[in-house]
Amino acid sequence: MKLYEFQGKNLFAKYQIPIPKGKVALTIDEARGIIKGSILPVVVKAQVLIGGRGKAGGVKLVKTMEDVEPVLNSIFGLNIKGYTVNKVLIEEGMNIEKEIYLSFMMNRNNEKITLITSSEGGVEIENVAKNNPDAILKLNIDPLVGLRSFHYMRFFEHLGIRDKTLKYQFIHVLNNMYKMFNELSLGLIEINPLVIVSGNRLIALDSKVVIDDNAVPFLKDMDHIKNYDDMTEDEVNAKSSGLSFVQLDGNIGCIVNGAGLAMATMDMIKFFGGEPANFLDVGGSSNPNKVISALKIITKDPNVKVILFNIFGGITRCDDIANGIKMALEKLDISLPIIIRLTGTNEKEGVRIIDSLGLDSTTSMQDAVKKAVSMVGE
Ligand code: GDP
Ligand code: MN
Repeated sequence: MKLYEFQGKNLFAKYQIPIPKGKVALTIDEARGIIKGSILPVVVKAQVLIGGRGKAGGVKLVKTMEDVEPVLNSIFGLNIKGYTVNKVLIEEGMNIEKEIYLSFMMNRNNEKITLITSSEGGVEIENVAKNNPDAILKLNIDPLVGLRSFHYMRFFEHLGIRDKTLKYQFIHVLNNMYKMFNELSLGLIEINPLVIVSGNRLIALDSKVVIDDNAVPFLKDMDHIKNYDDMTEDEVNAKSSGLSFVQLDGNIGCIVNGAGLAMATMDMIKFFGGEPANFLDVGGSSNPNKVISALKIITKDPNVKVILFNIFGGITRCDDIANGIKMALEKLDISLPIIIRLTGTNEKEGVRIIDSLGLDSTTSMQDAVKKAVSMVGE
């Protein structure tokens, strides 16, 4: 889960990583009010869940009151790579002496936490990586050993930092970033730029924070930070209904219990020459309402030509699934053919309910998948 810059910075503040003073505004009026109450210059920053805002015109300096209207009018409503700006962060302006790039990221390839830094931070960091890779230092940190003084020494040597007060501040920032990375189960914590301002002070001017999706449900006191702005509407609905859902571009809509069986179902569809429209796992202990939510999401996809249930009842009860189908057919207007494979716990009761609906069911996964594929092929 990606966080907005202001959310990341609120967490930085909690972890004692220095940030500029700032306020979020949701409307132009609110933004104007904040700027009028501030000492100029201020910086107005678009809050969108995508990088490269600076280059896209999403970060603007307001030096005098004359700048206020043009800056606000150009940023609110601006489209940055498909994201429309509807909130801004207004911060005190900084006199930047140097821009540094600093991040920690989860490195699954070598099972380390990789610290990445460059003295050439700022909006051109991608070009630095491409054209001058030596300017970038990567240190792999063993999570069992943690951040140690030899890491600091390599870090200071690479950035050419000798000033003692600056070194203390860097160590403070590095430790707190690393702590936040681990405590909040992050995939990435990035400050670009981390700036040195007059008086040799370090300040995090930007934040990019990505929390591991699997950790999100376990984080305490973080509800205010959960945002679904970068998920599709269907993915949000699926999530709030307790379903695992991934949109694909085939035409066989799948409703399956269990992630492994859902993967196997997609494999078998492909094997017989079909294309799944989605991955959907209703999970164990499926109550009928989950089936209704699943059918709602799948029937909204115009590509879907047939709906395939593949239920192997263990904890999931076949009669719960069948009741879900029954309730969904009563509530929703479903005209698509429904193929049902149903076997396992409470199979008899389930099959009886399906029969009463005038639908067929089979206990064979292969038969059900073949039938679904042949129907879309006709
Ligand atoms: P990004 O383009 O989405 O990464 O947005 P950033 O927050 O990194 O801002 C882009 C650039 O705007 C920074 O690299 C700085 O050069 C500049 N910038 C941001 N805040 C300030 C500020 O307070 N004062 C000045 N002079 N420049 C700023
Ligand atoms: Mn940045």
